[in-house]
Amino acid sequence: MNLKDKVCIITGAASGIGLGIAKRYVADGARVVIADLKLDAAEKVAKDLTAQGPGKAMAVEMNVTDEKQVNDGVAQVVKAWGGVDVLVSNAGIQIVHPLQDFPYDEWKKLLSIHLDGAFLTSKACLPHMYKAGSGSIIFMGSVHSKEASPLKAAYVTAKHGLLGLARVISKEGGDKGVRANVICPGFVKTPLVEKQIPEQARDLGISEEDVVNKVMLGETVDKEFTTVEDVANVAWVFAAFPTNALTGQSLNVSHGWSMT
Ligand code: NAD
Repeated sequence: MNLKDKVCIITGAASGIGLGIAKRYVADGARVVIADLKLDAAEKVAKDLTAQGPGKAMAVEMNVTDEKQVNDGVAQVVKAWGGVDVLVSNAGIQIVHPLQDFPYDEWKKLLSIHLDGAFLTSKACLPHMYKAGSGSIIFMGSVHSKEASPLKAAYVTAKHGLLGLARVISKEGGDKGVRANVICPGFVKTPLVEKQIPEQARDLGISEEDVVNKVMLGETVDKEFTTVEDVANVAWVFAAFPTNALTGQSLNVSHGWSMT
């Protein structure tokens, strides 16, 4: 199993987990597309990764909630590299509020990035995968695809939704060689999580230390954060796995926080 020359689009790849997956794929010889909001940030990442090799990377400006930008971005990739083998729909944000205070526009914004983003990028890539008779779609879920936490109504709803979308794609894509799976990480120290620590301390009325040790890591087997590299290794398996035996699945990588 390897990703040599495979064309892999990763959304939200200019930072955090997406960047870690991009590094892992380029290290395995893949041609990786850094699709993110800001072209200059994506271009810098693509340049650095290409210099590291042995694979290479290109940058595409893509707001995953903008249908035209998604379609144009995928078309640009197909023009440059001839097709799409792997889509990692990873772009995401977090917004925390108690439900009764959750601003409707923030609810819609979060759902749109996670769910519309997964829908639009899948919709744009599937025809190319169907044409080739193979492909792997990977959604970045979360332990919150299976568990709930206070303050995270929008995030938990979106992450649960991704399980359903992946299962539908598995069923629709099965006879066309296309797989779809979901990665469910526990807490990973990325900018998305660093931002949440003071916000949760404020909203829950506890110290930042308690947010980390009790809220974020309290249910793990060893009080350890999951790392970007842990998640990237799972993303590599879902991308490189050679058959449809592995489809419609979700895999927790969370130090045992979730075992379902
Ligand atoms: P991050 O903030 O480090 O990176 C997110 C990236 O997504 C950024 O580069 C940002 O520019 C990009 N992005 C945001 N909105 C976008 C949009 N509309 N279009 C395109 N790109 C957009 O966050 P991260 O922690 O690396 O999170 C990546 C994914 O992993 C998210 O889906 C998140 O929900 C999921 N996740 C994170 C954790 C964690 O603990 N960090 C745990 C489980 C799941």
